Amino acid sequence: MRNPVGGHVPVAGGLATTGLAYARELGAETVQVFVANPRGWATPKGNPAQDEKFRAQCAADGVSAWVHAPYLINFGSHTEATVEQSVLSLRHSLRRAREIGARGVVVHTGSATGGRAREVALAQVRERMLPLLDELTHDDDPFLLLESTAGQGSSLCSRTWDFGPYFEALDAHPKLGVCLDTCHIFAAGHDLAAPEGMARTLDLLVDTVGQGRLKLIHANDSKDIAGAHKDRHENIGSGHIGEEPFRALMSHPATEGVPLVIETPGGKEGHAADVARLKKLR
Ligand SMILES: [Zn+2]
Repeated sequence: MRNPVGGHVPVAGGLATTGLAYARELGAETVQVFVANPRGWATPKGNPAQDEKFRAQCAADGVSAWVHAPYLINFGSHTEATVEQSVLSLRHSLRRAREIGARGVVVHTGSATGGRAREVALAQVRERMLPLLDELTHDDDPFLLLESTAGQGSSLCSRTWDFGPYFEALDAHPKLGVCLDTCHIFAAGHDLAAPEGMARTLDLLVDTVGQGRLKLIHANDSKDIAGAHKDRHENIGSGHIGEEPFRALMSHPATEGVPLVIETPGGKEGHAADVARLKKLR
């Protein structure tokens, strides 16, 4: 399938029991989950029976799975405790991803806090994140996918070209990839709704990171205008991006085979409608 479409699903009650049941109700062809509280540092063990069921069912249904790492992670932080927790948290997400058969772990690119220079923060990204990539030596280890931000504050990566220095800091490791969030990149200043806006933005991304690095797309419309630096997701076609750019997204060569995950409002009904809308546009 050119672009499997699915969503981020809740898993309280069990990865397979709750998560995959929800995914089925959405008609999801791909699925994203948290393996820890996204707003905490806990690193829970997981339930082997649920893991096995999740793995087996995803494989049987041909559904690819993805893990989103916790939001608190920031490898650019000037606070040592935050960086230490970030290492433990991301290592946990990567290990859990392998255990549940996920293909990639999405992590936010973070920001240079405390007024420090971007170069200092990126040097720290190299020092603390690169060893985690080097730990990915099993055949079934996930990719580590960098998700850029809407460009708030001292963000390390929000425009397409910001992936350049980030990839450089990580030696363009073979296990490194990109998760493109359409709301974030629009909010950061790439006007996807302009004529050819989506195609141009994808071209810029490929120019920066090379072919084959785009592994996942967070398909979200935006409640705010391009360049607003606000991270407020909207249902597909109901925001300032609109439907048409998503059609363009799914016909660009860079997105061949790349799954789309929605992270939109509206609960289960809203999610099902967005999945259906993207399938229609595909
Ligand atoms: Zn996202």
